[in-house]
Amino acid sequence: MRLSKAFVPTTKEAPKDAVLPSHIYLVRGGFINQVASGIYNFLPFGKRVLDKIRSIIKEELDKAGCQEVQLGFVTPCELWEESGRFAKYGKELLRFKDRKENCFVLGPTHEEMMVALVRGRVTSYKQLPLNLYQINLKFRDEARPRFGLLRGREFIMKDGYSFHESIEDMQREYALMEETYKKIFTRLGLTFRAVEADVGAIGGSASKEFMVIANSGEDTIAVCSACEYAANVEAAKRKKPVPPVEAPEFSNFEPFYTPGLTSIEELSDFFKVHPYYFVKAVAKKAIYDESEEIVIFFLRGSDELQEIKAANAIGANELVDVSEEELQEAGIVPGFIAPYEQQCRIVLDEDLKGAKGLICGGNRKDYHLIGADLSHFDEALFADIVQVKEGDLCPECGAVMKLTKGIEVGHIFQLGTRYSAAMNATFLDRDGKAKPFVMGTYGIGVSRLVAAAIEQNHDERGCIWPKEIAPYEVCIIVSNIKDSEQSELGEELYQKLLDKGVEVVLDDRADRFGAKIKDFELIGYPYALIVGKALKEGKVQLVDRKTLQKLDVPKEEAIEELM
Ligand code: ATP
Ligand code: MG
Ligand code: MG
Ligand code: MG
Repeated sequence: MRLSKAFVPTTKEAPKDAVLPSHIYLVRGGFINQVASGIYNFLPFGKRVLDKIRSIIKEELDKAGCQEVQLGFVTPCELWEESGRFAKYGKELLRFKDRKENCFVLGPTHEEMMVALVRGRVTSYKQLPLNLYQINLKFRDEARPRFGLLRGREFIMKDGYSFHESIEDMQREYALMEETYKKIFTRLGLTFRAVEADVGAIGGSASKEFMVIANSGEDTIAVCSACEYAANVEAAKRKKPVPPVEAPEFSNFEPFYTPGLTSIEELSDFFKVHPYYFVKAVAKKAIYDESEEIVIFFLRGSDELQEIKAANAIGANELVDVSEEELQEAGIVPGFIAPYEQQCRIVLDEDLKGAKGLICGGNRKDYHLIGADLSHFDEALFADIVQVKEGDLCPECGAVMKLTKGIEVGHIFQLGTRYSAAMNATFLDRDGKAKPFVMGTYGIGVSRLVAAAIEQNHDERGCIWPKEIAPYEVCIIVSNIKDSEQSELGEELYQKLLDKGVEVVLDDRADRFGAKIKDFELIGYPYALIVGKALKEGKVQLVDRKTLQKLDVPKEEAIEELM
């Protein structure tokens, strides 16, 4: 592709309402443009990225035995009435009538359509299992369409649905889809976590979300710092909190955390028995007091696991080993260091007033600082975290859970017979009995992934595409197109790379060099090959978009260097 002929309208202007890098750079880089609230066009480069994501998804799903179909986008209301979702779904479901007064919806998800497709066509257990998917438009009339492609109203989703004769077989497929999703997101070059999730409106018994880790994510997830475990705090919120593992012998903490702490011996005794509960009570109080003071608790006589539990109990974000000197350097000057098996309460100096809670533990020489700065947690969030720790979500390994933000890019559900039973979609089982299909459902936000990739890979100059999904891999920049030596070499390198099957663009526009470099950085091709001033010494310059490092190479070696 020659940029002189390409339709890539880059601009300096960011959309007025844009706050996130992906929104700003995808519009400025000429990948997408907004048509209406939550509705976007994909321009040639945007379409290339989208297609690459789509084909990676397709390859991996096909390898896992799934079959691609394409269902109608416009769905008859009757199907939604059959499933019982027509009334329940709310305003995200766009309903309308055709000229004959027939009622339709724009499909926000396709359980109903897929069940209707399979119903009557798959009639025996011999035809099972079956996993059908599509990569197609969806429409949800989102209350707050925002962040560009991250939360559109019209968007592209891969949605898959599997049909089984038993729960066990559906669970086997669910595990296979989890593995397949991990392969997909790994190939896309993204840092992600699979997290326990809430089943929400779709229903079913178990579900996992795939979260691209990014500060701008709308979801908060709790991730174990040691094991694989992670969960969406949303899921935790809806679960009933499980009572603490062991009931404290002392139900009334009052005497122990009121200021003054006169009964050190009592505290010490109690603490030896129940460090976890003690710390939890004190920490909670410290947090909800909103006092300007910062409280340090020296955990004595506890083992590391108990400290970790304590950290979990207050949703601490970090556990670090520090020395006494380091404590002092950080401005944490304890009034006194508690003697062995005692603890104390200390007001810190000005510097650390932002922190809401701080727990410290360890032996005489080393201290464990837990949750050094909790000020960025809002209280509502904090309440959830406390719940997470008390409930099902302390990971078994007992390590500290960290909070992080994520963008939901995939979601898999064990659906069961919720739709097949309601819509009377049955098959004959091995005993000749009619049974509703046991189903799983699996979604990926394909257009959201375009933006999620940029949320995770950008700098202040623009996009930095992971290689697998970059619109093109290399951009040859001819610095001055009027210089015949430069433009000839540009053409030659362009042809050679094309012959080698490299996805390359030639920036042969008559623009200034500065503008071309700016576009290279904004669009974010992984590499640029600059044919410019260095050519006088027989050299070209190779630029790595990620590091912005420049390497002078003899023009004859440029191609090899790139490969
Ligand atoms: P969210 O929590 O972000 O609203 P969801 O849980 O409602 O998403 P699902 O019903 O699980 O979404 O749909 C499957 C996938 O479709 C999601 O994991 C997400 O990647 C994508 N998706 C959902 N809503 C949107 C949207 N408005 N714009 C772009 N992608 C979306
Ligand atoms: Mg939603
Ligand atoms: Mg969700
Ligand atoms: Mg979801």
